[in-house]
Order: sequence, then C-alpha cells, then structure tokens
Amino acid sequence: MENTRLPAHLNHYAWNRKILNVFWVIILVSVCVEVINSFLSERPLKEFYLQFVLLPTFLLSLTALIAEWSFRRKHKYTDYTIIGAASLFSGILVGVHSEMFVMYASLFFPMLISAIYFDKKKVWVSFTFSLSIYLVLSSFHPIIKELNDLMAQLTMASILLISTTICIAIMSRGYEIAVDLKKAQADHQDLMVKSTIMEKQVKTDALTGLYNHMAFYEYMDVLILQAETYHHPLHLAVIDIDNFKKVNDTYGHGIGDLVLKRIAKALKENVSTDDFVARYGGEEFVIILNDVKEEIAFSILDNIRKVVQQLKHPEIIEKSVTISVGLQTYRAGMHKQAFFEGADNSLYVAKRQGKNRVIIQECNQALEI
Ligand code: GH3
Ligand code: MG
Ligand code: MG
Repeated sequence: MENTRLPAHLNHYAWNRKILNVFWVIILVSVCVEVINSFLSERPLKEFYLQFVLLPTFLLSLTALIAEWSFRRKHKYTDYTIIGAASLFSGILVGVHSEMFVMYASLFFPMLISAIYFDKKKVWVSFTFSLSIYLVLSSFHPIIKELNDLMAQLTMASILLISTTICIAIMSRGYEIAVDLKKAQADHQDLMVKSTIMEKQVKTDALTGLYNHMAFYEYMDVLILQAETYHHPLHLAVIDIDNFKKVNDTYGHGIGDLVLKRIAKALKENVSTDDFVARYGGEEFVIILNDVKEEIAFSILDNIRKVVQQLKHPEIIEKSVTISVGLQTYRAGMHKQAFFEGADNSLYVAKRQGKNRVIIQECNQALEI
C-alpha cells in the first residue's frame, strides 16, 4: 500500500502550534464579531451576551485548552485531539449560530486542518467527526433540526464526502510531487558522490594511491599563490629512486612495483598533513613542504631518505633501495617553472655526487654520506 505519511520531523510540532494559534484567533474574532453584532441585534443585551458571547467563548476556550494540554504533554494522540477540537469548534459555532447557514462552512475546517498532517487516515477521521457533529446537531438541536430535513442531511453528507475526497486527491498529488522531489534529490546526491569519486580518481595515481602529475601542478599553483599572499616559506623536493632500472631488470616489473609502492607509502607517512606528496611519473616523486624553515625542510627530507634506505625489501638481494632528493625553496616572484627546475637541478647534482643524498643547491648544502 502507498505510504502517504510524511516523516515526523517535517515541523510537525511547529505546525500543531500554528493550528492552536488559529484556534485562539477564531475565539478572538468570534468575540469581536459578536460584540459588534450586539449593537445591531434587537435582543436584550444581557441575553445576547450570554448566548452569543459568554457561552460560545467558554466552550471554545475549554476545547482549545484541552488541545493545548495535549499539545504541551506531547501526547501520542495530540494530532487527533487537535482534529477533534477543530470539529468541536465547528460544532459549537454551528450550534450557537443555528440560524446562520453560512456557519455550516466551518464543518470543512477539520478536514482542511487534518490535510496539513498529510495523512489520509486523519482526513477520514476528521470527516467522520464533522459528519457526526452535523448529524447530531441536525437530529437533536431544536432549530437546526427544524431547518435540516432528511434531504438536507443527505446533501450535506455528500458535500462533506466529496470535499474529503478532493482533500485526499490534493494530498496524493502533493505526495507524488514530494516523492519526485526526493528522487531528484537522491539522484543529485548520487551524482555528487560519483563526481567526487571521479575527481579523486582523476587526481590519484593508481599504483601508489598518491596524487598524480596533474594534481601536483594544480596544487603547486595554489600553494605558490598562498606563499606569495601570506609570505610563508614553501619548499619543493623532487625525489628519484636510485638505480631503479636495475631492480626492474633483475627482479621484474612486479617486484619493482612492490618496491615503488613501499617507498611511496614511506614518503606519505613521513610528512605532515599540511604537506603534499605526489608521484611525478615513473619512479619520481615530488613533495611540497609548507610553512617550515629551510633547515627544517632539509632535515624532513633527509629523514625521509634515511627511512627509505632502511625499508626492508625481502624480495631483492640488495635488501635496500635508496633515493636522491633535490630541494628548492620558493623565492618571492619565482616562476613555477624555475621553482621546479631548481629542485630538479639539485636532484641532478645529488645523482652526480653519488646518489642517496639531499641537495639544496642554492645553499650549497649537501648531505655527504
Ligand atoms: P638513477 O639512479 O639514475 O635514477 O637510475 P635509474 O635506473 O633509477 O634511472 P632510469 O631513469 O634509467 O630508470 C628508471 C626506471 O624506472 C625505468 C623503468 O623501468 C622504471 N619504472 C618507471 N616507472 C615504473 C613503474 O611504474 N613500475 C616499475 N616497476 N618500474 C618503473
Ligand atoms: Mg628517473
Ligand atoms: Mg631513478
């Protein structure tokens, strides 16, 4: 069966409060209208006030107070109490103003109010309430009984039934739209998730899980801009595995890949979350260090070099694989190409000087082993 209830969190409490406020407004309006009527009526003032002001105001207020009580107690049946109260309201209004046919229109209030809950069952309950109240009044109220014969009762019952059906049709249509909207929302969310995954895939190197070449250049642009804006230090390290071709040639690409992944993991694990590690291509990596002094950058990279040297590779006889690192500190106004070339040149020097070392060429600072 089609579920026609909306989730309870949809401001249910706030809407009940609004409905109760409407009850109090109806009481106020009814008092005001009757006070004005009292000047126009030819009846004795005392009798008029008793019948049209005091009695209905007392009954309406009592009904509203019961609904308020149920609302404040957060009672399980608050919605039904409110629907019942709305029916009593229309019953009181019709009963007191028994000669005013126009008051019968108030019998539709409970159905309209119950439609707010978006619950077919509640609309049918309010229909039953309204119909019962009308039938009781038209059977026992001396004046209403006089004015409503069987034909009028049948007509009124039919109108109430048709109105209820229309109410439910409107709700079904609203529900259809809500379901459609929910589906569109779910589709949108699905698309967002897919696009996020794809974006990550596009930026990630499949073998090592590090950022790839493209992501590196994107990120470097952002970091250079930040360094220029906030004047904090920025360093770029270009890292190349030493004699890696030999590893591949001797043990095959599979073992080479294993070593490559192990080194990539070590790089990632030995920088802070503020720093950026990417696989530049082949067996070359880049690291961008943020907001640290040059000496610190050097010691971080040298520590990484030592960590890599100490990595265990049980698959190969040499047991140890080393890296060479070229380091470049960003200087204000430097072009990104010059920034990269600075680091790459230092890497070249590191290789020429015998590998397994970190070189900051500008400072003429090399780590000799
Ligand atoms: P150097 O110390 O001068 O850097 O010597 P090298 O042998 O490391 O340098 P070279 O550039 O001559 O060789 C790099 C090798 O890296 C070539 C290629 O076989 C290997 N390589 C590049 N990408 C991959 C990869 O994805 N997987 C594996 N297993 N090997 C790779
Ligand atoms: Mg290379
Ligand atoms: Mg190499």
